[in-house]
Amino acid sequence: MPAMKEIFGNQRRYFAFNIWDTDSIQAVMDAGEEEKKDVILQTSSRVFAEMDKEAIRRYVDYYQSKKGIKAYLHLDHCRDIEIIKSAVEYGWDSVMIDASHLPLEENISLSNEVCGYAHSKGVIVEAEVGQIPGVEDDISGTAAGYAKIEDIKKFLDNTSVDIFAASIGTCHGLYKEKPNIDHELIDEIAQYREIPFVIHGGSGLSESELKNLLAHNNVRKINISTELKQSYRRGILNASEKGLLSENGFEATAVKKEIYKEIKFTAEEKLRLL
Ligand SMILES: [Zn+2]
Repeated sequence: MPAMKEIFGNQRRYFAFNIWDTDSIQAVMDAGEEEKKDVILQTSSRVFAEMDKEAIRRYVDYYQSKKGIKAYLHLDHCRDIEIIKSAVEYGWDSVMIDASHLPLEENISLSNEVCGYAHSKGVIVEAEVGQIPGVEDDISGTAAGYAKIEDIKKFLDNTSVDIFAASIGTCHGLYKEKPNIDHELIDEIAQYREIPFVIHGGSGLSESELKNLLAHNNVRKINISTELKQSYRRGILNASEKGLLSENGFEATAVKKEIYKEIKFTAEEKLRLL
């Protein structure tokens, strides 16, 4: 599959940022340009449902042509095959089937169904074993604990997924306590199969935790969602503090600039670690 080679060949690794509109795309891609790093732009399935998909695909293509970096569009956690098919049709570069809440056998068969469809169109498939806890938009995981290596081996032996995620101790949303990441499990997966491994719940991990994750050769994609939303919120709060939300003389573009600065700063901070 050429797309796989282009995106994940030569040990290439990425931060993947959850975006929701053209402004957030612009801020992340400008950060990528600044740091000279390609980026993955991902949409949660809820955001995907709400957005004008054709416009977003066109905007990413257009903005990419102006910048010196590549940006790939990815559909994050999705349990619905019809939505996944729609993302493939609209030209998303990769999709994630998240059937980690189902029994392993069902996860395997659903993931294979997605692979059959997506691969025929040259689209990369991410799948997950062992539910990652926490809340991310419409996906909420209640299971605690770590994925079992036997389950992971069985899953990898019986599916043709391209990139792979598993519950290794990280969490979606905001961390209430310091996560206990199972680095041995990440290594065990690397020893068993050469497949790009995806870290979910990258938001809120310290710089040293992120560096420790990037020290694994198989860690090739780290997802950042919550931190970008927090940056958006901080931008609005900053605007408010500066008096930019006052009724008189309110300028939408001034507020937008504050939001842009925060998002770009956060994305740059991560990309610098690659
Ligand atoms: Zn996730």
